[in-house]
Amino acid sequence: MNTAAPLRDLSRLCVHTITTKPWSIETCATKFAAAGVTGITVWRDTLEGRDIQKTGQLIRDQGLSIVSLCRGGFFPALTPVDRRKALDDNRKAIAEAHALGAPMIVLVCGAVPGQSLVASRKQIVDGIASLLDDCKAAGVKLAIEPLHPMYADARSAVNTLGQANDMVEELKSSYVGVAADVYHLWWDPALEQEIARCGRLNALFAYHVCDWRTPTTDLLLDRGLMGEGCINLRQIRSWIEATGFKGFNEVEVFSNRLWATDQDAYLKKIVQAYRDHV
Ligand code: ZN
Repeated sequence: MNTAAPLRDLSRLCVHTITTKPWSIETCATKFAAAGVTGITVWRDTLEGRDIQKTGQLIRDQGLSIVSLCRGGFFPALTPVDRRKALDDNRKAIAEAHALGAPMIVLVCGAVPGQSLVASRKQIVDGIASLLDDCKAAGVKLAIEPLHPMYADARSAVNTLGQANDMVEELKSSYVGVAADVYHLWWDPALEQEIARCGRLNALFAYHVCDWRTPTTDLLLDRGLMGEGCINLRQIRSWIEATGFKGFNEVEVFSNRLWATDQDAYLKKIVQAYRDHV
């Protein structure tokens, strides 16, 4: 069985701001850096009311690499007016990423109850295609994140890495790739070969880690910290690294349970879990 060697240092540890949701962006930057974390993925809600350029500088001054801005997407809609609104919001996200100094935006692509997944996927491809000029001008890439099929009703019509790879092939742009998140993909029997295919397409832009708890008590807000669940993280990382991937291992945990705990102690646990399980 494939497995990866434990991560001895933190040089590829990125934490998403949503993981420590109670903290402001300024607190995240200071505390992450003090804990030895080296990368940060910024969620857009943390930028509200801030000068985005200055916030980017503040983060870099802490020695952190800004890995991604989360998130854009939600392209499908029942009317052309609403699809245009979605594009406007994505253009805003591209401008924010540019101002922040983030090289990439993660896309939760969207879906609409009452519209077929096939129709939604077409609208997703069309939506991404119409943003490519903006991406080039801003120097910002887009990473399609396939979501677990339990979210196919309203959050994403892209539910497997294979579907995301198909979109990358169709769009044929160096600005479009994939964010692979173990929470969404761990169950997929085609995962190993689709990770390899993503690598051949030069499209593996990001790797997100957490764990799947049994039982899961909330479809969205009950993710586990690495080691708390059933995902074989070392095996999946070995497949990711076999593509030549040299990017960050990004810790992205939405958890009401963990957000209710002391966040300083939790950040220590994150670093330990990264060493022990990623
Ligand atoms: Zn993710």
